[in-house]
Amino acid sequence: MEESITQRKRVYSALKPTGDLQLGNYIGALKNMVKLQEDYDCIYTVADMHSITVDCVPAELRKRTYDFMALFLAIGLDPEKTLLFVQSHVSAHAELTWVLNCNTMMGEASRMTQFKDKSKKAGKSGINVGLFDYPVLMASDILLYQADLVPVGKDQLQHLELARNIAERFNNRYSATFTLPEPYVGNKATSKIFNLLDPKSKMGKTDDSVGGVIFLLDQPDVIMKKFSRAVTDSECEIKASASKPGITNLLGIYSAVTGKTVAAAEKEFAGRDYAYFKKAVGEAVVEHLRPIQSEYKRYISDKATLEKIMKDGADKASYIARKTLSKVYRKVGFVI
Ligand code: AMP
Repeated sequence: MEESITQRKRVYSALKPTGDLQLGNYIGALKNMVKLQEDYDCIYTVADMHSITVDCVPAELRKRTYDFMALFLAIGLDPEKTLLFVQSHVSAHAELTWVLNCNTMMGEASRMTQFKDKSKKAGKSGINVGLFDYPVLMASDILLYQADLVPVGKDQLQHLELARNIAERFNNRYSATFTLPEPYVGNKATSKIFNLLDPKSKMGKTDDSVGGVIFLLDQPDVIMKKFSRAVTDSECEIKASASKPGITNLLGIYSAVTGKTVAAAEKEFAGRDYAYFKKAVGEAVVEHLRPIQSEYKRYISDKATLEKIMKDGADKASYIARKTLSKVYRKVGFVI
């Protein structure tokens, strides 16, 4: 991650430790993050500062921050290749956010649909200023590291667009400072994973329906039980189609964890009943997660090593972030 010797594009991504990591995070984001580290300079953050924009139990946040870092390592993210750190360990994120706040228009920040949705759900009493400012903090995360590419789902595209707008405005006002980040659209085939009990809703870390969410640290018997209860349909054909969301979701999961295509999976299970299929998908997931869970246990039971990795990552990240922040401070007229 030496700045001077690398010409590779820089990728920035972050996951916030709100809710436990689930299979959708793994298939939709984490698996790809591991692949990207071979071709890009990757910077991955446990975004704990984003977590406190919503109600959050301190002890849970602390535990999840360790868990996320241990899982990052367990899935194969390599701190020798990739910069891994905890957001709050690098104070430049908060510092740049202030300057960017002063270069963000109320009008553009108020247009963020995710804020509108979340605040509607939370009701007036549940909204804090941090939730409104979340996209500006996200812009700081990305711009501090001069990231070229940001892997984003559709839900985050508007936030990335805002980050670009803020960067562009700052560059025009004060001279070139920030790289304009582009969305990284990876493998389109990477499937969206849906809740097993409600296969029309995306599986999520904080779903109410946890019986339909496979958490990465779920025990094998829990995983098998959740798959056995997965919603299917009244037919008996194992085939992906828009009218069969449950079966399509299970085929997508099976394909993602085995590396087989959906068509190959359809062939493999032709003529089998749903109970057999659901058991096979459950077993494939258990087998895929087994080495990850075992590596996780190794890291989480060695806090000293985990903390050393966090500290080394934070030191490297601070070095890069400080360079950007000093430039910004100088340009806006702070005496540094
Ligand atoms: P979140 O847990 O919503 O903060 O999402 C973190 C990352 O995981 C984002 O890149 C999401 O696109 C991805 N992700 C979360 N849930 C799913 C899902 N059910 N299917 C696919 N990708 C997901």
